[in-house]
Amino acid sequence: LTHSGFVSGFGSFHPGGKVPLGLKRKGLRIVVTGGAGFVGSHLVDRLIARGDSVIVVDNFFTGRKENVMHHFGNPKFELIRHDVVEPLLLEVDQIYHLACPASPVHYKFNPVKTIISNVVGTLNMLGLAKRVGARFLLTSTSEVYGDPLQHPQVETYWGNVNPIGVRSCYDEGKRTAETLTMDYHRGAGVEVRIARIFNTYGPRMCIDDGRVVSNFVAQALRKEPLTVYGDGKQTRSFQYVSDLVEGLMRLMEGEHVGPFNLGNPGEFTMLELAQVVQETIDPNAKIEFRANTEDDPHKRKPDITKAKDLLGWEPKVSLRKGLPLMVSDFRQRIFGDHKADGA
Ligand code: NAD
Ligand code: UDP
Ligand code: UDP
Repeated sequence: LTHSGFVSGFGSFHPGGKVPLGLKRKGLRIVVTGGAGFVGSHLVDRLIARGDSVIVVDNFFTGRKENVMHHFGNPKFELIRHDVVEPLLLEVDQIYHLACPASPVHYKFNPVKTIISNVVGTLNMLGLAKRVGARFLLTSTSEVYGDPLQHPQVETYWGNVNPIGVRSCYDEGKRTAETLTMDYHRGAGVEVRIARIFNTYGPRMCIDDGRVVSNFVAQALRKEPLTVYGDGKQTRSFQYVSDLVEGLMRLMEGEHVGPFNLGNPGEFTMLELAQVVQETIDPNAKIEFRANTEDDPHKRKPDITKAKDLLGWEPKVSLRKGLPLMVSDFRQRIFGDHKADGA
């Protein structure tokens, strides 16, 4: 890696570019915005394990201290309560920019705040990347394809997005974030990476965040009916979180800007997902149909040829393998430790 940021920046103060003993580079300094959230906290675990110094920046809108608490006391870990909508001064080598609510329920809660987080928040982090010469990775989304007319979705597809709908704050927010990222790349020479993440699940998701996997798992554990929206024939492709984190790190370390689809091509209807949840948790779980939400995409499945070819990445964990790992975490958080062992 040839970052011109914090670490290599030291060289310029020391003739010959030699870093004095004691200031030798031991791992990178990395900021993870949204690092107290679901995906961010798993990424932080991997970065810390690799020996990097990690600064988590989070406003705790949907994130929780509990997700990163196991790093408290580690001198290589810092947690800052900060909203990325405000400017931020740090000296780092890499920026993983995740700060943004991801569940439709959360991002629709305050749509104006969602779009400001995506636009102003991303602008600030790009400004930071430009100032310190850090490499910047944006976690964009499969939602940039909207209700796609091409299936599966390839990165070259421009999408079918409603600009004035209830999901637009997120979809258009992320599309603008991608635009800003490319403009800073072209205009200011910032090293950037763009990931388009498809539906991801795993331990540490908010239990009541309204996303389908967390809803079904929590409902089945609580002996409540699984709420299928619409006719349940709409599809999604579900990726286990460790696969995503591996993809994000490969993308950051690799030489390609992207955008890259990061997702598991295994496609399921919501009724099929309900069935997998029944098989995994409770075969007697009931299904209850509810009205669907507005502008719900009918189908979604990533074409991951590009990530396979250029990053040497593909997901390893199938839904049937990954779901039980999430279920034990949910069981513990819903019922407490004692019941987790028995069931
Ligand atoms: P999450 O809601 O668990 O995490 C988001 C984190 O960002 C939370 O910790 C939240 O408190 C923080 N945050 C939100 N707004 C902020 C702000 N203005 N300033 C500082 N912190 C803020 O969601 P996640 O599933 O971990 O998603 C992480 C990223 O990945 C998001 O950018 C999301 O859009 C993207 N993504 C996720 C998925 C998925 O299926 N999980 C799919 C596509 C894209
Ligand atoms: N910014 C930041 N931290 C930095 C550098 C910039 O938060 O270390 C913010 C800055 O406040 C501005 C945005 O990033 O709102 C874009 O910065 P840039 O320097 O690209 O634009 P300018 O400040 O010249 O408009
Ligand atoms: N969904 C569902 N039941 C739920 C929550 C969601 O059937 O309790 C459906 C929703 O209508 C959508 C799909 O599951 O078709 C995925 O929704 P989610 O909110 O998880 O993510 P999205 O891909 O829409 O952002």
